[in-house]
Amino acid sequence: MANISSQNINNIFTTWQNLNPHPQTELNFSNNYTLLVAVVLSAQSTDIGVNKATKNLFKVVDTPQKMLALGEEKLKKYISTIGLYNNKAKNIIILSEQLIKLHNSQVPSDFESLKNLAGVGQKTANVVLNCAFGKPTIAVDTHVFRVANRLGIVDETNPEKTELALLKKIPKKFLFHAHHWMILHGRYICQARKPNCKNCQIEKFCKFDKKVF
Ligand code: SF4
Repeated sequence: MANISSQNINNIFTTWQNLNPHPQTELNFSNNYTLLVAVVLSAQSTDIGVNKATKNLFKVVDTPQKMLALGEEKLKKYISTIGLYNNKAKNIIILSEQLIKLHNSQVPSDFESLKNLAGVGQKTANVVLNCAFGKPTIAVDTHVFRVANRLGIVDETNPEKTELALLKKIPKKFLFHAHHWMILHGRYICQARKPNCKNCQIEKFCKFDKKVF
C-alpha cells in the first residue's frame, strides 16, 4: 500500500512538528543509566506501568554500582508489576556488570556496544541512541510499525524492514523526532483496534483503507 507521495510524507511530519515541536519519551529517567534500565523494562510493557515501578526504584538506584548493591532479588520486588520481570531483572544485573567492566560504568554511545549488553535489542539500542545521545535513529515498536504501514509511508512485514524503509523515506530534517511522533500518534490517535480517524490531524494524507469515523 506504500503509495503515499514524498510530498505527503513531508506534510505529515510538518503537521506533527507544528503540533509538537519537541516530542519526548514518556518514560521517566534521570540519567543515561536510568534511561537504559527504563527502556529495557518497557519491552512488551506500557510506559505508564514502567514509570510506576521505577518511581521507587530510581530513588535508590541510579548507577550500575547501586544496582549491583541492590541485587537481583530486591530488584525483582521493585519491578514485579511489570511483565517478564524475572528475565528483565536478570538482564539488568548482567548489563550493569557489563557497564562497569567494559564501559567504565557509562552507557556506551555506539550501536554495537549497546546491542552487546544483556537484554538490549535493536529497538532499545535505537531509543537510547536517540534519547541519550541525540542520534537520528528510528526505534520501531508496535506503534511505529502500525502507524508507518497504515499511513502508507512504508509497506513492510516486520520491524527491521520498517526501520530501514523509514530511514530512507523520512526527510532528514524530521528523523530525530520521527519515532516519537509516530509512537505518540499510535498511542493516542491511531490505536490498534479503533483508530480515531475522526480526530486525526493527518487523516487527509492517510492511505489506510479501514478508517474508523
Ligand atoms: S486517518 Fe485513521 S488510520 Fe489514518 S493515521 Fe489517522 S487515525 Fe490512523
